[in-house]
Amino acid sequence: MARLRAVFCDVGGPIYDDDNFVRAVLTALDELRAADGLPPVDRGRFRLLYDRARAAQGGSLRAALAEEFLGDRARRGELHQLTRRHWVHPAGTMYPDVLPFLQSLAGSVRFGILANQEEGVIRALERDGVAPYVDVWGVSALVGHEKPSAELFSWCLDQAGVAPEEAVHIGNRLDTDVRPARELGLGTVWVLRGEAPDEPTDEQLAEADLAVGTLDGLAPRLFERFGSRP
Ligand SMILES: [Mg+2]
Repeated sequence: MARLRAVFCDVGGPIYDDDNFVRAVLTALDELRAADGLPPVDRGRFRLLYDRARAAQGGSLRAALAEEFLGDRARRGELHQLTRRHWVHPAGTMYPDVLPFLQSLAGSVRFGILANQEEGVIRALERDGVAPYVDVWGVSALVGHEKPSAELFSWCLDQAGVAPEEAVHIGNRLDTDVRPARELGLGTVWVLRGEAPDEPTDEQLAEADLAVGTLDGLAPRLFERFGSRP
């Protein structure tokens, strides 16, 4: 990598707590079950399936949840649509290391959001002070492409005006962040929180260029690993 010119970042996990998604999907499941005359989802059973999906870093969580709690994998689409309606990022759910990280990057690279998110995420990022740092808004609901498809990554690269080898993607999943980014030639950072496993295997850790627990101190490591500060 000649020089690092752009940093792209996932939202759920690196920026906002993935519990925001968990709340939305649980609300959606409870509503769909109530309509069928069923009691709310057993939280312990949900946690088991969720943790299993986190450990696997692949496969469809929505399909597994639809099968387990709605009795039919085919209801995953219905669950997805209702989850989207409930998915918000309330004040106070942004990680405290986000703004210091962006401040330490500012002026050195282009910064972009690259995430499967609803349009409402933009208002949350404005409220929480992130928006002034954002050069590229790669929000799937706006762009019309979702990770892991290469189109969302390519769209962000085009918007930033950089080549893949001049960019890094930061995300907390292997299947939708690290693997598709690496395939296109971007550098990869795996943030181990939210939907990342509690105990990643050595094989999983080896898939990303860098694996970090927080964004603290990440900016200098990016320049060290992927190219010098311009
Ligand atoms: Mg994420």
